Amino acid sequence: MTHTEVLVIGGGVIGSSIAYHLARRGHQVLVVERAQIAVEPAASWASAGGVRRQGRHPAEAALAIEAVTHWPYLEAELDADVHYRQGGNLLVAESADEAAQLAAFAAQQREMGFADVRWLDQAEVRELVPGIGEQVVAASTSPADGQADPALTTRAFAAAAQHLGATYWTETPCHALVVSGSRGAIRISGALTSRGDVAAEAVVLAAGAWSDELAAGIGLRLPMQMHALQMVRSTPAPTGVLRPVISPMGRALSLKQLNNGSFLLGGGWPGDIAADRHGYTLRPASIAGNWAAACAILPAVGRQLVERAWCGLEAISADEIPLIGPVAGFEGLTVAVGFSGHGFAIAPAVGRAVADQLAGQPVPELDGLSPARIVEPADAQPAPR
Ligand SMILES: Cc1cc2nc3c(=O)[nH]c(=O)nc-3n(C[C@H](O)[C@H](O)[C@H](O)COP(=O)(O)OP(=O)(O)OC[C@H]3O[C@@H](n4cnc5c(N)ncnc54)[C@H](O)[C@@H]3O)c2cc1C
Repeated sequence: MTHTEVLVIGGGVIGSSIAYHLARRGHQVLVVERAQIAVEPAASWASAGGVRRQGRHPAEAALAIEAVTHWPYLEAELDADVHYRQGGNLLVAESADEAAQLAAFAAQQREMGFADVRWLDQAEVRELVPGIGEQVVAASTSPADGQADPALTTRAFAAAAQHLGATYWTETPCHALVVSGSRGAIRISGALTSRGDVAAEAVVLAAGAWSDELAAGIGLRLPMQMHALQMVRSTPAPTGVLRPVISPMGRALSLKQLNNGSFLLGGGWPGDIAADRHGYTLRPASIAGNWAAACAILPAVGRQLVERAWCGLEAISADEIPLIGPVAGFEGLTVAVGFSGHGFAIAPAVGRAVADQLAGQPVPELDGLSPARIVEPADAQPAPR
């Protein structure tokens, strides 16, 4: 039996940011990761890496503001190159109607505390992105937003956590959470892993899209669903064509240019999840749809070829915002799950907030993300298996 103060299950960007912030405060942390850090098909490997506040749910606003402030210093703090670039985020309108909606949207974003967001007319958009499609008539810009490499960021958090004393068990699946007590007053006291049993004062479930399986084993039903989200990367174009990350209002697309010149296309196009919930198959129609949307917004994409496509498995929660915090009736357990396709950007703030919460400090910025809003109380849940 191994003893630790905090056991984190899952070494993705969320689990590793939490481990890093806990280790920084001097806590004893063990991270149990089934695979290596940030490998296919984990969301933190597949992610588009957009660092965005625009369009966030108000419940995430405080974390998003904190994270965007933190991102410019993250590389120095973690002592790693994570390909961070503060190129801004551009939400674009392709009709007069959409342009009017965007003007109201930009004002609403400022009211949410995103002070730099402003509306741009066609000439201003063209100045920012000279090659943008001629039908683009306006945009809402969020200059402090940006992009980074998700796998590099995740590995940087993991390495920094270990540097500060956290232990990582990779290639180590967690088979089950260990419970004591009875229905309605269950205590989570550790986990069974392929390297043996672990006893912990606190357990953090951060196993991404697979968290529901471990939760089900203790009779906890997490209202979230696994999705295969598809990405497409182009062959490298000349660098410097596109600085901000672009999303059109009326199309499923996020479009950015990577450091090597390749365009990276996302936007929530679906692939198919394998029956074992560990693999996926690509949908050619999703590749074609995503590519067509990108070519319409930035014709320079059409001069390239599809170099690679892939999927990441991500959990979308019932209300499409994450569940972060303790769960009533499951003492000793904290969940950080259901990031719904936008957890990467806020990961630095999530790690800080969960570490503070575990230390007993007030964290009002997590109030709107508490599992209590949608998770049924323990006595309405099925009994532990
Ligand atoms: C295609 C795609 C594009 C995205 N684009 C963006 C974006 O532009 N901006 C943004 O902010 N967000 C984006 N996201 C979302 C973001 O990437 C995720 O919210 C975030 O990476 C989730 O991190 P995680 O640590 O919770 O999950 P994961 O990265 O999936 O990590 C969970 C880890 O738990 C491990 N694990 C699972 N079960 C067990 C077990 N039983 N025992 C031990 N280990 C286990 C897994 O192996 C995995 O490493 C995107 C997601 C996808 C899929």
